[in-house]
Amino acid sequence: MPDKIPSFDLTRNYERVKEEVRVALDRVLETQHFILGPEVENFEKEMAAYLDVKHTVGCASGTDALVLALMELDLKEGDEVITTPFTFFATASCISRTGAKPVFADVEPDSYNLSMEAVLEKITPRTRAVIPVHLFGQTCKLEIIKPELEKRNIKLVEDCAQAIGAHRMVNKEIWRAGAVGDMGCFSFFPTKNLGCYGDGGMISVPRDDVAAERIKKLRVHGAGTTYFHEEIGINSRLDAIQAAILRVRLRHLEEWNEERRIVADRYMTLLGEKGLLDKITPPVEQPGNRHVYHQYVVRAQRRDELMQFLADRGIVTRVYYPLALHLQPCFAYLGYREGDFPVSEALTKEVLALPIFPELLPEEQARIVDEIAAFYAGQN
Ligand SMILES: *Cc1c(COP(=O)(O)O)cnc(C)c1O
Repeated sequence: MPDKIPSFDLTRNYERVKEEVRVALDRVLETQHFILGPEVENFEKEMAAYLDVKHTVGCASGTDALVLALMELDLKEGDEVITTPFTFFATASCISRTGAKPVFADVEPDSYNLSMEAVLEKITPRTRAVIPVHLFGQTCKLEIIKPELEKRNIKLVEDCAQAIGAHRMVNKEIWRAGAVGDMGCFSFFPTKNLGCYGDGGMISVPRDDVAAERIKKLRVHGAGTTYFHEEIGINSRLDAIQAAILRVRLRHLEEWNEERRIVADRYMTLLGEKGLLDKITPPVEQPGNRHVYHQYVVRAQRRDELMQFLADRGIVTRVYYPLALHLQPCFAYLGYREGDFPVSEALTKEVLALPIFPELLPEEQARIVDEIAAFYAGQN
């Protein structure tokens, strides 16, 4: 059997930055300063410059970034937060954890992103925030809701875990993921476009100095100065080793995102050349968007059979996500039923994430698409 093709391969990436990472690690080890400190502060500054925002606050994970952002909003029971049912679990669980109620709205069939028109229909007097997710690497059409939310003092918290470096042109302006809303939440989980070597996360605060200071307190048990607690926070800090690694990897992020875009282009060409576009619907990069292809997610006919066929030939694909959040047992208390969000539900049965990472080779991609063609040729 030919070599296995993984859905992602971090070892190939490590080979490219090994020397730089080891120098950075040594620097931290020599100081023995592990929690927050200068490495984290420098990384926060570098990220603020990269994202084009006023403040960033490092924390322990992308999930905690969402939790801290919602803590800053002082949500209480009865408050509503609108988000998508077609996302990673943490986007919605963080809402429940504050005592507020997740309210779902359906997604767009082409981008799989939260439909902004659907969001507008779900706004009630109890709506306190909206969490759009820039899913798989392209940003939502925030220009449709931003003025409306500002008018009603509803906060906009962007889930940017999959979209670092993505942007969208709006009236000749660049709207960067994490720089548009009141806050943006990032994850440095190892497989994200900018990953660390463990867990890590960050909140971007584009404009509000007071909110940024408050989040910095909330991540250290609500303490303004050590052992003096102004309010009850949590323990959620980015550590110096991860920050040092992230500083190295941030310098390469633009290059790696470009490589992901090349991989995506090549899939599109290959799928077309093999005449597969009636069986496989490739992801759509909407006009004005710069998609950073955290995932390359297609809609496939007979998805489960195709996935098994590829697995038998050493090609690993994944399903993000197999069950929409409104149908998860833990959210049964919200009272949603099957059929409430038809687009999301259809996607859960059709989506398939093909392997994508900056180092994926053209010959590997050709083999993947050849096998997809063989599957559909053999069974029709
Ligand atoms: C990865 C991810 C998160 C959570 O990040 P962690 O760092 O794993 O806690 C949140 N939202 C989305 C959309 C994600 O993909």
